Amino acid sequence: MMVASSMQNFKGSLLLDEPMAKHTSWRIGGTADQFYTPADIDDLICFVEQLADTENIFFLGLGSNLLVRDSGFRGTVISLKGSLSDIELLDGNVLRAGAGTSCAKLARFCHRNNLIGGEFFAGIPGLLGGALAMNAGAFGGETWPLVKSVTTLNKQGEVFTRTPLDYEIDYRNVKSIDNEWFVSADLQFESGDGEAAAQSVKHLLAQRASSQPTGLPSCGSVFKNPQADYAARLIEACELKGYAIGGAVVSEKHANFIINRGSAKARDVEALICFIQKTVKKQHGIDLQTEVKIIGEADNESL
Ligand SMILES: Cc1cc2nc3c(=O)[nH]c(=O)nc-3n(C[C@H](O)[C@H](O)[C@H](O)COP(=O)(O)OP(=O)(O)OC[C@H]3O[C@@H](n4cnc5c(N)ncnc54)[C@H](O)[C@@H]3O)c2cc1C
Repeated sequence: MMVASSMQNFKGSLLLDEPMAKHTSWRIGGTADQFYTPADIDDLICFVEQLADTENIFFLGLGSNLLVRDSGFRGTVISLKGSLSDIELLDGNVLRAGAGTSCAKLARFCHRNNLIGGEFFAGIPGLLGGALAMNAGAFGGETWPLVKSVTTLNKQGEVFTRTPLDYEIDYRNVKSIDNEWFVSADLQFESGDGEAAAQSVKHLLAQRASSQPTGLPSCGSVFKNPQADYAARLIEACELKGYAIGGAVVSEKHANFIINRGSAKARDVEALICFIQKTVKKQHGIDLQTEVKIIGEADNESL
């Protein structure tokens, strides 16, 4: 539902009781109480400032690493899709991009400007904000080694400039500052042959399409790879490819992907995640950690 009366001071769009299934790559999720897409950074600051101190706020990219429980999200989701997506070239092979910039656009901007090192972004179906929050990476590249600084926003509407030293950064994990979110980043690249980088992107995307079920509703890799091993190898060795709970099934193409066959509930996905963890623990003695973020209250039927 679109709200008009309370929107007089804001230029963005506010939706109430918005189904999160429309905003996650799994196509799953209950409703968010409020769903706001800011028009620009000033509008975002104004909007965040007027929220109650007690309001739960969740920043959303493209929902490509997110499971929203069936009970939904009690609070305000701020979506950066279609917002804060400008990129500008600064001196010394540095670019400044808004947190709403898609990773694909970032990769294109890099090779068009003969900047090297961002090719891996082409395969990540999220926004820069999500890539910063997850330390997204692929084919040997990762987000944070490229970061010179980030701009963040807190609940009071204050803006900060931070450097990588302000964060604990790990494989697919970034310990952020509580109630502070990314609004832009300055990324440093090498200069090089943009045409060769574009060819390399084509090659990486073809490799990905041949090994992953890229066209089906998923969140990419559900589990982090354990030290010196692969989650997909362990799951496959447990003969779980094709194993299903409700509408959620372990991909036949890549065992670390869970696919929504069309009717999956979040509770099916969570039950399947749990079953995979128990089976891998029993057969290989390894605790698989989830990469995917899970939000919302667990309902009684979950797990
Ligand atoms: C087919 C497929 C392939 C994938 N392949 C890869 C891969 O190769 N490598 C890889 O690393 N990932 C991969 N992923 C996972 C996912 O695309 C990445 O984790 C991506 O970085 C998530 O970005 P997003 O914008 O969709 O974030 P979302 O899923 O919307 O959010 C993920 C987390 O980031 C937080 N977040 C989002 N924006 C902000 C912000 N502005 N400030 C603070 N926190 C924020 C959210 O609150 C949430 O906790 C894949 C996913 C799919 C569906």
